[in-house]
Formats: sequence, C-alpha cells, structure tokens
Amino acid sequence: MTAEPLLLLVEDELPVRRFLRAALGSRGYRLVEAGTLREAEQLATSHNPDLVVLDLQLPDGDGVELLTRLRAWSARPVLVLSARGREEDKVRALDAGADDYLTKPFGAEELLARIRAALRRAARAPGEQPGPVLEVGQLRIDQARHEVQLGGRDVKVTPIEFKLLLLLARNAGKVLTHRQILVEVWGPGQASQTHYVRVYMAELRRKLEEDPARPRLLLTEPGVGYRMADRPPGESQGG
Ligand code: CA
Repeated sequence: MTAEPLLLLVEDELPVRRFLRAALGSRGYRLVEAGTLREAEQLATSHNPDLVVLDLQLPDGDGVELLTRLRAWSARPVLVLSARGREEDKVRALDAGADDYLTKPFGAEELLARIRAALRRAARAPGEQPGPVLEVGQLRIDQARHEVQLGGRDVKVTPIEFKLLLLLARNAGKVLTHRQILVEVWGPGQASQTHYVRVYMAELRRKLEEDPARPRLLLTEPGVGYRMADRPPGESQGG
C-alpha cells in the first residue's frame, strides 16, 4: 500500500491555514505546515513533499524566492495562493515554475480539484512515452503527421496554430503565461508580443470551439495567460 501524498502548506494567515488543514487533512493527505519562508525551506528540504501549497505574501519575504530555490532541485508541483487583484504576482510565480494558482478566497472543492490535477500531471510526467498521438478529451493531435481532429472531424491548422495547440495540449490542465507561450511558440525574442497569442488563440477557438465567445476547451486566465481544459465537456468523467 502506498502512502498518501505529503503536502507542504506554506501560509502565515492562521484562518487560511486552518481551512487548508481541514480541507486537505480530511481527504487523507499527509500535511506539514510552515508560516514563514525560512520554515518552509527547512521542511521542503527535510521532507521533500509531493506538492507545495505556497502563499506568496509571507512575513519574511516573497514566496517566489522559495519557489526559485526549490526549482533548483525539485520538479514537484507548486500551487501558489495569491490575493485578488495581484495578477502580476501570479504571472511571476508561474514564470518562475509554479504549476498553478488559486486566488483567495477559494473553495475547498476548487482547491482539491487543482491539487488532484497537479499530482496527476506530476505522476505521468517522468519518462512518459505517449507516442505520436496526443488526446485531450475530444481533441486528437497526431504529432508525426501534423494533423488535428476534433470528435473525429479533421481540423485544418497552420504550422503556428499547430505548435500553439500542441503546447497547450501537452500541458492540458495547466495554466501557461503569455510569456511562456510566446517563448515556446515564437522564440525568446518575442516574449513581449502578447497580441500574437491573442490573435492565434482567437483563430484556434474559431476552429475548435462550438461557441468561440464561450470557450470550453481553450480557456482564458484573465491577466495571466491560457489553459487547455483537461476534461472538456463531452468526455465521460472517469478516474
Ligand atoms: Ca500571507
């Protein structure tokens, strides 16, 4: 029998910490807790947790500092917590290697869903040999033939659209910042050309969404970037 995942909770606000402890402890996760960057770094190195829930505003500094140091030796998922209206903090954290974020206040179900998704992605990442065909819900991308199908229907995409779609699909469920998308698809020199992403996303939505104004597959994360829904509607809920 494998042990339940060990989570490190880094949060200085006691009510939020109590909420996290109650929500996660009752689902069987093992928990260790820290209220400062210093404690968090000690616990991260001594316990090597399976996932870190990291508040960004801590009394002895910025959570992104810890994230940057963690990323030197750990690829384990980090879910950051930030206050409403601080999109820049989220973007900085995601660019520094965070896997996802939640804006306070958030509900227990949302927290649990994000944690399950991050742990699932982490479990399948190492040594994964998915073969040439990548499937996300109804979407099927043949990487060898550069072909896209949705629900069995062929969708014609340009080379750039293909690259963008493939990047989102490989990271299904994970938010990608504008900067990450620009660097991956267009190259490091284009990191500030946010409008490229907007234009190409609009085109992909026109081709892939039933109602492009209300996307269900290619989701906007306001002020941050985009995310491909990892269980689009229509797919049966399993696992
Ligand atoms: Ca705080």
